[in-house]
Amino acid sequence: MLGFGCGMVTGKAGMTSHSYWINTATAFDGGAAGPVPSRADAVVIGGGYTGLAAARALALEGARVVVLEGARVAQAASGRNGGQCNNGLAQDFGGMVAAYGLERARAFYRDFDDAVTTVETIVRDEAIDCDFLRGGKLKLAAKPEHVAKLEASAKFLRREVDSDVAFLDVAATRREVASDSFHGALLFRRSASMHVGRFGAGLAEAAARRGALLFEHAFVTRLERLGGTRYRVTSTRGVVEADRVLIATGASEKGPFGWFRRRIVPIGSFIVATEPLPADLRQALLPEARTCTTTRLIGNFFRTTPDNRLIFGGRARFALPGPRDDAKSGIVLRRSMIGMFPALAQTRIDYCWGGVVDMSADRLPHAGQHDGLFFATGFSGHGTQMSVHLGSAMAGVMLGMRSDILWDQGAWPAIAGHYGKPWFLPAVGAWYRIKDAIS
Ligand SMILES: Cc1cc2nc3c(=O)[nH]c(=O)nc-3n(C[C@H](O)[C@H](O)[C@H](O)COP(=O)(O)OP(=O)(O)OC[C@H]3O[C@@H](n4cnc5c(N)ncnc54)[C@H](O)[C@@H]3O)c2cc1C
Repeated sequence: MLGFGCGMVTGKAGMTSHSYWINTATAFDGGAAGPVPSRADAVVIGGGYTGLAAARALALEGARVVVLEGARVAQAASGRNGGQCNNGLAQDFGGMVAAYGLERARAFYRDFDDAVTTVETIVRDEAIDCDFLRGGKLKLAAKPEHVAKLEASAKFLRREVDSDVAFLDVAATRREVASDSFHGALLFRRSASMHVGRFGAGLAEAAARRGALLFEHAFVTRLERLGGTRYRVTSTRGVVEADRVLIATGASEKGPFGWFRRRIVPIGSFIVATEPLPADLRQALLPEARTCTTTRLIGNFFRTTPDNRLIFGGRARFALPGPRDDAKSGIVLRRSMIGMFPALAQTRIDYCWGGVVDMSADRLPHAGQHDGLFFATGFSGHGTQMSVHLGSAMAGVMLGMRSDILWDQGAWPAIAGHYGKPWFLPAVGAWYRIKDAIS
């Protein structure tokens, strides 16, 4: 069948369209029944990777944990992402050294390495069947002008922090990706990929198996501080008092989290998944099954799946997800995909969906305490690994077992002029397009 089907779009509130990952995973069905208990040692608000990893780690330490998830667990960003579990920083390492100094930039970089290992360890320890594969990542030069910078970056990274990084020239890049659109690449060998829907369901099952009570459709509407870190939390499934509360609500646009909304910009990101490709075509497109990103500011990310689909995403439009915008973004993405891979001109699109990225101003994660509430957020499109790692680490902080969180950077100022609705996004999008055109 020719063309753009995207027949999977629904208009269900809160579920803008079907993610390939959610549609091809068995949904978690171990949610707690009845009203929430009146007391808990720890309440985790939000059942994405951050909240689930924290709940699992808290329960492993013997804490009585209640997770309050406003919808279904692992079905917001955690069930709608690109399935790339990459090492390395999203930002240029040289720029990070200039901003933070070598030691801190190195520590940031290494924490992403550790985060991939945290995911790998949980997958192994909890026997989660999610096709976790250390296949490596390619950062692809989308313009000839970007090649010199990638080559210099490779040298610097190899010398200072990651001896596994390699620079690939245009010929080597062409052997990795069957496209004439790229002029060179950086290879990060420690990066991984996984089926994020099956990982999310497996992580939820693991948390429940370890003793955490997971309440779905328990939307939190009110927080009352009782003193120190003690809070009364009101949800649509009941009220619970806890000694410690973790805010793990990602880019949540609703609920009593105004302080966080002034620090996080919700940004739409969109993805399409093709029909299963003939195995030889899939093999020819990306023979090493690596994850891929491009160097443009408004770039693309893609990978293949074990069932031979191409998953192709990007910030196709500066809009938030919804059935109309997912479909429009799908059309833009399909055009870009065919531009890179003309062999896919006749390929059907089976899925298109959008999700909301929790972007911080410095594009780094933030974690710590505010008003007695613990938090971990701001993963800025690089949270498949870091949300799991930081959620697990915050459990240790909540229990007083550690205080060494790298991403707890003390004061975290609000974004000037931002009160929750990102009115400035169209202007930012226009500025990025200009920068992409001239750099
Ligand atoms: C389209 C897209 C592509 C991405 N691709 C990648 C990728 O390839 N690699 C990568 O590393 N990262 C990627 N990311 C980012 C990654 O998915 C996230 O960083 C990660 O999933 C964040 O997990 P989380 O648990 O913090 O947030 P979420 O998964 O968003 O979970 C937050 C949860 O909080 C719940 N919640 C919110 N408000 C309330 C309330 N009031 N009461 C109760 N519950 C509430 C929500 O329902 C939600 O389930 C992508 C993100 C998107 C959207």
